[in-house]
Amino acid sequence: MGKIVILDENTSNQIAAGEVVERPASVVKELVENSIDAGSTNISVEISNGGVSLIKVVDNGSGIEEDDIEIAFERHSTSKIRKASDLEAITSLGFRGEALASIASVSTVEVTSRPAHREYGRYVKIQGGTLIESNQTGCPVGTTFIVRELFYNTPARFKFLKKDSTEAGYVSDIVSRIALGNPDISFRLINNRNTVIHTPGNNDLLSTIYSLYGKETAKECMEVSYEDESIKITGYAGRPEIARSNRNYQSIYLNRRYIKNKVISSAIDEAYKTYLLKNKFAFIVLYIELNPLLVDVNVHPTKMEVRFSREQDIFRAVYHAVNNALLSKTHIRNVAISD
Ligand code: ADP
Ligand code: MG
Repeated sequence: MGKIVILDENTSNQIAAGEVVERPASVVKELVENSIDAGSTNISVEISNGGVSLIKVVDNGSGIEEDDIEIAFERHSTSKIRKASDLEAITSLGFRGEALASIASVSTVEVTSRPAHREYGRYVKIQGGTLIESNQTGCPVGTTFIVRELFYNTPARFKFLKKDSTEAGYVSDIVSRIALGNPDISFRLINNRNTVIHTPGNNDLLSTIYSLYGKETAKECMEVSYEDESIKITGYAGRPEIARSNRNYQSIYLNRRYIKNKVISSAIDEAYKTYLLKNKFAFIVLYIELNPLLVDVNVHPTKMEVRFSREQDIFRAVYHAVNNALLSKTHIRNVAISD
C-alpha cells in the first residue's frame, strides 16, 4: 500500500496561507492592494483587536462581477494575468491569484461587491474555505471585505500573534507605506473606532507625508528629482536634522510597489554618509520608476523583495538622486504645509 496522497483543497489552501497570511497586517496588505488594482480612489480600513477579530476594507473600485465572485476565492484565480509571459511586464500589484483563497481558508470572510454597470451587487460568505452563503444584494458600487476570526482554525498560527496593540501597529505601518506610495488615493485607517490615518488623496506626496508624519517632518523635506535613460527617481529626502534612529522611516517604491531592497538602502546610506552620525537613518520616500523588464518581482510570495538585473546602475542612480537633493539644498515648496 502506498502512503502518498494528494492533499484536499482546503488543506493545501491552508498551507499556502502560511506563506501569504502571516498576521492581520498581511491580510490588510492583500485586500488593500486588490482595492488599488481595482482602480479605487477611496479606501477605508477598519480593524478591531489588532485585526484579529475584525478587518474591514471598503473601496469604491471596479467591483467584482457576480459570476466572478465565487471563482475569485479559488486558488490561482486572477483577472490580472493570463499566461506566464505576462509576468515579464507586470503592472498590477496582484497576479498570483492566491490571496483570497488563502485568507478565506483561515478565517470567516464576507464580501459584498457591485460593479458600476450593475443594478445589484452580490454578497458571499465563506468560512474556513467553505461557501456558506451567496445572495444578490443592494449595495454601493465597489467592494467591501469583512474578515473575522483570523486563524480560528489554525491554532499554531494564532499562537504566534503578538498583543493587539502590536498587531495594530503592523497594520498601521503597512497602511502608511501603501498610502505614501499612492498619494492619488485617499486612505483611512480606523483602529478600535478611532481614525488613526487619513490621507487627502490629492495626488501630492508632500501633503501625504504631512498627514502621516506631521508638519515638522514635512517642513524638513527636500525634493528628489533624477532621470537618466533607464530610470526615473522622485520623492522627498529628509534633511539630516530629522534623521531617526532606525530605518522605519525609509519608504522605497519600485514602479509604485512598496519594496525593501539592500542595494537601494545602501545607496541611500552612502549618499547621507557625510551628513549623518553613525546609527542615524534618513527620513526618505523614494519613487523609482524602471522598465519592468529590468526587475523580477516574482521572487517572494509577499512580493516585497525584488531582484534587479543591473544592480550597479540602480545603486549609482539612487546615490546620485539623493546626493543631488542634499547638495542642492533648495528648500521645498511650502505648499500644503499650512496649519
Ligand atoms: P490577485 O490579486 O493576485 O489577482 P486575489 O486572490 O487577491 O488575486 O484576488 C482574486 C481576484 O479577485 C482578483 O484578480 C480580482 O479580479 C478580484 N478582486 C479581489 N479584490 C477585489 C476588489 N477589491 N475589487 C475588485 N476586484 C477584486
Ligand atoms: Mg490580490
